[in-house]
Amino acid sequence: MANESLRQQLSLLYQLQEHDRELLSIHERFNLIPQQIKQLEANVTKSKTDITTKSDELAEVEKSLRSKNADLEMNEVQREKYRTEQREVTSNDAYIALENQIEFLDQKDDQTEGEILELMETADQLKEELENLEAEVAREDENTDKKTTEYQEERKNLKALIDEKMKQRTQYLPKIDKKLSTLYHQWIERRKGDFVALGKNGTCGCCRLTIQPQNLKEAQKYEKLVFCASCKRVLYVEPPSTDIPYP
Ligand SMILES: [Zn+2]
Repeated sequence: MANESLRQQLSLLYQLQEHDRELLSIHERFNLIPQQIKQLEANVTKSKTDITTKSDELAEVEKSLRSKNADLEMNEVQREKYRTEQREVTSNDAYIALENQIEFLDQKDDQTEGEILELMETADQLKEELENLEAEVAREDENTDKKTTEYQEERKNLKALIDEKMKQRTQYLPKIDKKLSTLYHQWIERRKGDFVALGKNGTCGCCRLTIQPQNLKEAQKYEKLVFCASCKRVLYVEPPSTDIPYP
C-alpha cells in the first residue's frame, strides 16, 4: 500500500512549485513595467529632440533670408547713390561707368531674389514639418500619459497580487517536511527551475525520458524520495490506482 504521507508531501510540494512558478511570472511582469514606462518617455524625448533640430534649421534659413533682404536694401541705397552721381557727372565715359555699376547691382539683385525665393520655399516646408512634428509630440505625450497611468495601475495590482500569493505561500510551507522544503529551495536557487517532476505514463515530465522500471516501482510506493536518473529531479509519479487524486 502506498505511503500516504510522502505522497501527500509530494503533492503539496508540487502545488507549491506551481504556486511559485506563477509568483515568479507575476514578479517578472512587475519588474518589467518601469522599463516599459522609461521606453515610452524615451520615445517622446526623441521626438522633442527632432523638433529642436528642425527649429534650429528653420532659424538658420530665416537668418539667411534676413541677410539677403539686407543685401537688397544696401544695393538699393548704392543704386540711388550712383543715380545721383549720374545726374552730376559731365563726361559721357563717367556716366557709362556708373551705368555699368548700376547694371552690375541689378544682376546681383536678380540672383539674390532667386535665392530668396528658394529660401522662402524651404522655410515654408520646414514650418509645415514642424507643425506635423508638434502635433505628433502632442499625441505621443497624451498617449504616454495614458499608458503610464495604465502601467502604474497594473503594477499596483500586481503588487497586491504578489502580497496575496506570498501570504498563500506561507500556508503551504508548514505542511511540508522541512528536509523536503530545504531540498526544494536549494534546487530552485541553484537551477531556477522545477524540482518536482511529474511522472506520467512511465516518463519524466521534465526531461521526457523513460523512468527506469525499478525506479518507477520504487516511486509508486512513496516510501522514500526517488530521483529521475537522468535530470535528478524528485519524481512525483502517478499512483498505481486512479482513486487517489493526482497531481
Ligand atoms: Zn527527468
